[in-house]
Amino acid sequence: MSKPLFRFGANDTLMNLLSRNQTWASRLSALRPSLFPTNAQGQSPQILWIGCSDSRAGEACLDLLPGEVFVHRNIANIMPYGDLSSLSVIQFAVDVLKVKHIIICGHYDCGGVWASLTSKKLGILDHWLKHIRDTKARHKCELDKLPDSRDKANRLVELNVCSQVHNLKRNDVVMDAMKSRGLEVHGLVYDVGSGLLKELEVPDDENEDQYSLSSDDHYAH
Ligand SMILES: [Zn+2]
Repeated sequence: MSKPLFRFGANDTLMNLLSRNQTWASRLSALRPSLFPTNAQGQSPQILWIGCSDSRAGEACLDLLPGEVFVHRNIANIMPYGDLSSLSVIQFAVDVLKVKHIIICGHYDCGGVWASLTSKKLGILDHWLKHIRDTKARHKCELDKLPDSRDKANRLVELNVCSQVHNLKRNDVVMDAMKSRGLEVHGLVYDVGSGLLKELEVPDDENEDQYSLSSDDHYAH
């Protein structure tokens, strides 16, 4: 019988996880003896990773070590203006940790994006996914030209990443850090079928000037 592909099966328990953890920590300590003592002193990651909660599409694809990536993940990697959780992560990562790069990473075969292409009711999740429906509505003409549903879903994954990059660049904490210290924001897509990342060419935000704030109190026309 061949060995199962995945390491944690339906009949495995927390004990299996704890034992795996011990083996992992010993292996990493042997390979990089200074890693855990360094991490015990604090963190100074260069990257904020914003990705989907999908089990296949995490920051592990960067092949970096614990301490290198600050992470926020939610369903379909969405950065809404009023979401306190992601806004707090962004502020901490940019203002306190002073990360140099923010990566927004979508992935092909995203369940959130597939759901947004149907009219099936899912419950509370539908409120969250309205952000993707907004993007779908804005790009209806382009998406309607793609007859194949997989092509349509893949393109909507990319359009969602572009839209979230714009949202992020309209955040004043991000805007200030881009101007003052060259913070970079990147839009990527991860292919769950190959393990490879692709950088997207995110078009300029035509409405960027509408979101620029200053402490001067004047009425902008
Ligand atoms: Zn997803």
